[in-house]
Amino acid sequence: MQTKTDLESADIVERAKMDEITKEDALYIVYNTFLLFKIADELRSEVVGDIVTYVINRNINFTNVCIGDCTFCAFKRERGYILSMEQILQKVEDAIAKGATEICIQGGLLKGTTLDFYCEMLGCVKSHFDVHLHAFSPMEVFHAAKNSNVDVQDALKALKHSGLDSMPGTAAEILDDEIRRKICPNKISVAQWIDIITTAHRMGIPTTATIMYGHIETLEHWVDHLLLIRNIQKKTKGFTEFIPLSFMPKNNELGGIARGPTSMDNLKMHALSRILLYPYVRNVQASWVKLGRKLARETLFCGVNDLGGTLMEEHITKSAGGAEGEYMSPEGFEELIISAGRIPKRRTTLYTIA
Ligand code: SF4
Repeated sequence: MQTKTDLESADIVERAKMDEITKEDALYIVYNTFLLFKIADELRSEVVGDIVTYVINRNINFTNVCIGDCTFCAFKRERGYILSMEQILQKVEDAIAKGATEICIQGGLLKGTTLDFYCEMLGCVKSHFDVHLHAFSPMEVFHAAKNSNVDVQDALKALKHSGLDSMPGTAAEILDDEIRRKICPNKISVAQWIDIITTAHRMGIPTTATIMYGHIETLEHWVDHLLLIRNIQKKTKGFTEFIPLSFMPKNNELGGIARGPTSMDNLKMHALSRILLYPYVRNVQASWVKLGRKLARETLFCGVNDLGGTLMEEHITKSAGGAEGEYMSPEGFEELIISAGRIPKRRTTLYTIA
């Protein structure tokens, strides 16, 4: 016999399929935890089955000097480091020796850096190594374009020509201008984030999509953000995955008034992402470096099918209190995934199974 939960679950899945899922549906399920996790797990199973993926990658944060003033940032320093090209190349070489297929490059906003600076970095790595370059947030693209007096499309064209393969959809934080004015007043607006992301997609540059949650936002902001990502994906199909990023409250100003999400908030966010992005965004990723390995494993029962990358080096979360270290080995991923009863698979950045 079908229970009320079964019927509600079937209704919501049907509405998601028919593109009729509403904000009211979303707010209803987010308060019904059992239903939320049940639907998310069913949809994960329908879309990707039992395979859980990860990528061997290396993060390179080329500088921690930044003219930005995001209140959640624990990473930037006034007198910080700027890596030389030789140092970057050395890190890439080390990563490739460990099997990396992706190099993720992001950094602070250096005063006055033009497009040439970013293009030279990409071009130099590409001229030495055949590796996927996943680089520069929409904020960095905006910064480079502005300092070079070119529009976003021309900036992206130059970056792509220099070797940019895909972009992190970071700097999204919460896609709500009122919240942005409070937590990152000098960051690009919602409209600018959308413009850079959709221009990249139109030009054949895939991106990820993110949300940074667990601070001063409300559940309504979660829902609006996810429905916005859903609508972009419907039009462009350019997002490879959605990555919820939990706010880390240590060593930053925002942490003085916000404590970060609870474990339950974290699980709910991942489950809601799976449901509201269905069927358009195939992959929902959990960030092991932010959640910790144990909670990242739990998200596999709440809609998640990807655990991100090995990283090898990680400064942003570590500065804000992350205690998970900077590297998870392929063996570590395999063990964690198998322990959850799932099938581990190594993938490329664009989700080809390696
Ligand atoms: S989050 Fe990024 S842009 Fe903002 S202050 Fe930190 S390094 Fe700068």
